Amino acid sequence: MTIDNTIVAKPKRDLWAAFKNGIRGKCPKCGKGSLFKGYLRVNDSCPHCSEALHHHRADDAPPYITMAIVGHVIVGTIFHIETSYEIDPILHIYWSLPAMLILSLVLLRPIKGIIIAMQWANYLHGFDPNFDPKNDH
Ligand SMILES: [Zn+2]
Repeated sequence: MTIDNTIVAKPKRDLWAAFKNGIRGKCPKCGKGSLFKGYLRVNDSCPHCSEALHHHRADDAPPYITMAIVGHVIVGTIFHIETSYEIDPILHIYWSLPAMLILSLVLLRPIKGIIIAMQWANYLHGFDPNFDPKNDH
């Protein structure tokens, strides 16, 4: 509900299109403007269609999901190597630390784009035209 208690209709938004735009770092609405103005800093609004993007609440979700994916891939690979080959365990440091760093940096931005796009597509937080900031916890 808005300040004058009128309820604004919310047309259904295409989740899959928003997902694809988010993973590419594009505006979830138009798919043309950039979602980000830096590596992870989000534009206040889309430079192409002016859709407000500052409402997002990605918070800790992108790093949490990135750590879960990277952790499973790296630890699973270490277990596989340890059970399949006989190598000095110290050698895992040489490949796993750079792999964790690179994989995290590669995944973090598209995951943040997906989170923001899903928030936009589902009218979460300030993306909801009926959003009441007084009830934002
Ligand atoms: Zn846009």
